[in-house]
Amino acid sequence: MTVPFDHERLFIPGPVEVRREILDAQGQWMIGHRSQAFADLYARLQPRLKESFGAGESHRVYTYTSSGSGIWESASRNCVRDDQPVLHLVNGAFSDRWAQVSRANGKQVDVIEVPWGQAVKPEQVAEALKQKHYDAVAMVYNETSTGVLNPLPAIAKVVRGYEDTLLLVDAVSCWMGTPIEAEAWGLDVVLASSQKAFALPPGIAFGAVSDRALARAETITHRGYYFDMLVLEKYHKRNNTPATPPISLMFAADKQLDAIRAEGYENRFRRHTMLAERTHEWVRSRGFEMFSEEGYHSPTVSAVRNTPGIDFPAMQAFLKERGIMLGGGYGKLKGETFRIAHMGDLQMADLEALLTAMDAFLEA
Ligand SMILES: *Cc1c(COP(=O)(O)O)cnc(C)c1O
Repeated sequence: MTVPFDHERLFIPGPVEVRREILDAQGQWMIGHRSQAFADLYARLQPRLKESFGAGESHRVYTYTSSGSGIWESASRNCVRDDQPVLHLVNGAFSDRWAQVSRANGKQVDVIEVPWGQAVKPEQVAEALKQKHYDAVAMVYNETSTGVLNPLPAIAKVVRGYEDTLLLVDAVSCWMGTPIEAEAWGLDVVLASSQKAFALPPGIAFGAVSDRALARAETITHRGYYFDMLVLEKYHKRNNTPATPPISLMFAADKQLDAIRAEGYENRFRRHTMLAERTHEWVRSRGFEMFSEEGYHSPTVSAVRNTPGIDFPAMQAFLKERGIMLGGGYGKLKGETFRIAHMGDLQMADLEALLTAMDAFLEA
């Protein structure tokens, strides 16, 4: 039996494999978060974070000491008034959960739901916005549970026709794997976790927030505290955070942002596209089908329909013996699908090792 990797490699859609160099960057001596060294670190991250979200003059990027879900709560609380509705676009488990987060924060939630595996279309959003005012439209760019990349630029164009409707975007599993243009597309909140295509350990999240979003926050009385954008803004102006931030993860982010610049964004995005295309080719040639709608396949994670009905738990066990962790279907798609994550710092050779191991299982 050949074990292709020297430790268990994660091919799950988060957390993903983290390079040794990035793990080691966390091991630097601690600094106080009210020190000049920390302010320098914060200020050093900011331009590169802004660049990664396509942020311009009217956005800043906050560092959240939480996973990405914390920014769901931040966006729902700060950008939607209690007496005005929010429109959630739902086509999978994560977009469904964000709608639940808005409800849990007392917001009035309307939903456009399409069958899982399909993308939400701009015409559907246009139709809903014609019917009534929404304080915000909340959507997931890359629905990790179904492997669907929603047509965000086209949806953004529709929403931007309504000055008082904010556009809140979960880019958790595609930020750093596909282009995001907060300024050019007119996005108000774009949120991302560290442990997906950014390939950092979990525990820190980033949110690009527009001036328009902050203006909305000013009209809202109960924004909470830990995720209050106005509090975050006050400290952000001093290159700081209200509470103690995950400093070690910020050291790692500093290193990783440099590495991504060195690779080049275009090259990074192209690598993700190539990994996705290679995965699609394998999927089809082995008698499986893509679960995601044609034309909307995710560049970072493929949801595969188990058409031939292979014993997936047996394949998972087979792969685990070979140092490979592969994810099953998420939520109600468990059994029907499995997922291959091809995001982060994964190289084609890594993917080929996975595909070879899966072939060995299928041929056994
Ligand atoms: C993983 C994921 C989340 C949850 O992020 P956490 O960092 O675990 O809070 C939210 N949305 C999408 C699309 C995801 O893939």
